[in-house]
Parts: sequence; C-alpha cells; structure tokens
Amino acid sequence: MSRTAIDADEAFALVSDGTRLSILRALTDTDSDGLSFGDLRARVDVADSGQFNYHLNRLVGTFIRKSNGGTYSLTTAGNRLVGAVLRGVYHDQGEHREFTLDAPCPNCGGSIPVIYDDEQLSIGCPECESFTAEITFPLPPGMLRVRDDDELLDGIDAWLRAQLRAAVGSLCLNCAGTLTVSLTNDTTLVDFEGPFVECRCDRCGRTLLTSISEYLVFEPAVIGLFHNHGVDLVRMPLIELPLVCNTTTTVVETDPLTARTRFAIADEQLDVTIEDDGTTHIE
Ligand SMILES: [Zn+2]
Ligand SMILES: [Zn+2]
Repeated sequence: MSRTAIDADEAFALVSDGTRLSILRALTDTDSDGLSFGDLRARVDVADSGQFNYHLNRLVGTFIRKSNGGTYSLTTAGNRLVGAVLRGVYHDQGEHREFTLDAPCPNCGGSIPVIYDDEQLSIGCPECESFTAEITFPLPPGMLRVRDDDELLDGIDAWLRAQLRAAVGSLCLNCAGTLTVSLTNDTTLVDFEGPFVECRCDRCGRTLLTSISEYLVFEPAVIGLFHNHGVDLVRMPLIELPLVCNTTTTVVETDPLTARTRFAIADEQLDVTIEDDGTTHIE
C-alpha cells in the first residue's frame, strides 16, 4: 500500500486514541517481516474486532505499513512516534531521582550529587565554589524507567554525547531541522557563568544550551590532549570532565562575542577560541 502524505494536525488526530497507540506499541517488538493480522490482533487488548479493524486501517499508510504479504509493521514515522512515547515525552513528567557520582569532588573530596528533576539533570559540588553545577540538561524521563542508578550514568552520558554531537553538526534531533549555533552571555538562561553555547533549531525552536567546554569535546586537538595524559575523552563520562580537567573560559571580544577556553591537564594546556557562530580555532 502506498504511503499517504499528511500534515501535523492529521497526524495528531490519527493517534489521539488509546487503541491506536496500543496497536503501534504492539508492533515495536517484531522482526523485519512484521506481524500477521492475527498475531497483531492477539497482542492488542480490544474486545470489539470491528473497533480494532477500524483503528488499524486508519493507521495504515502513515504510521503502519502493510506488506504485499499482508503483514503489518511500523513506518519510520510510526517508529519515531512510539519512540517519543517510550522516551516518556508525554506521560512521565515529574520523575525525580538523586544519586552521587563514584568520583569525589577534586577540590573538597566531598561527594557530588546528580539530581534529575522536572526533565532536567543537574550536577555539581554543593560544598565548594570551584566545581559548581556545570550541566543542566534535558533528559527524557523514560530513560529512568529502564535503568537503575548505576546504569543511568551510562545512559545519561550516551544521551548527552548524542545531543552534543548532533549540535556540533547543526542537526536538530527533534525535527531533523538545522540548528543555528551562537555564543551568548545571557545568564538568565542557565545557572552557570557565561558565555555558553546556544543551539537553536530554525524549524521547531528547540534550544540546547551547553557550556563551551562540553561543546568542544569533539575537537580532535582536545581529544588528543587528553589522550596524551591517559584520559579517554571519547569514552569517559562527560559529566566527569570537570573532575579530570581544569577548563577556564574567558571572553576575548564582546562584539561579536568571542571566547577562549583553556583545557589544562597535568602540565599541558590547550587554548581553543570559539567565535560567535560556533567556529573554532586551535591556538
Ligand atoms: Zn567540592
Ligand atoms: Zn528542530
């Protein structure tokens, strides 16, 4: 069956029903051949088969693909929709979790709490001022459902890296639009000292705010600096970055805003300059 182009209003209307969401979720755990009508019917708890048929047929062509052999599977749009549901985008708001990092604060030796609240993750030493909250990051609530505290750190790190990597490539992971990168000093947006990087999607408006040092962790020269000192920046948890490396960011110019971040580890240091539009230079 051919796919049908629909606009966003129609898409929302199509899935505004519990039975339809149940049908979509039932199709997540299938092999590439999809499910036969009978198998799909058995997985969805709807007594009325007329209702089931009606809802299934409404989804075919947009969120569900029906093969020539008569099996059903999710289209890319269906997969993304179910992914959003499982990420907890629509129903898991209000999750709260607190745990501490394995590594102590390098300044005071105290334990460092990680707090997840209201879809934001924040981390920082509450005792000393030299290592304060550097990361306040939106995290999908559904991640907490399938991970205990130990696993959560790995999940957070993978999520953080994926977001940052996409941002460096100007890709919006929300809508596949283009991100515009800019430096900003607007400290009403974050709870750490600026300047920092703002990545804003030209299409959906989603905005990602990150410190300059996090934005720069994909720079080959930065990775190389860490590698020379036995630190694997590619695999270590990014939220432990401030524990192994001193970074200082200074404003070089105010108009256009230009900043320089110094990465220092052991007796070596590397200066990276970042311009207003995210362009970087190694010095
Ligand atoms: Zn401390
Ligand atoms: Zn977007």
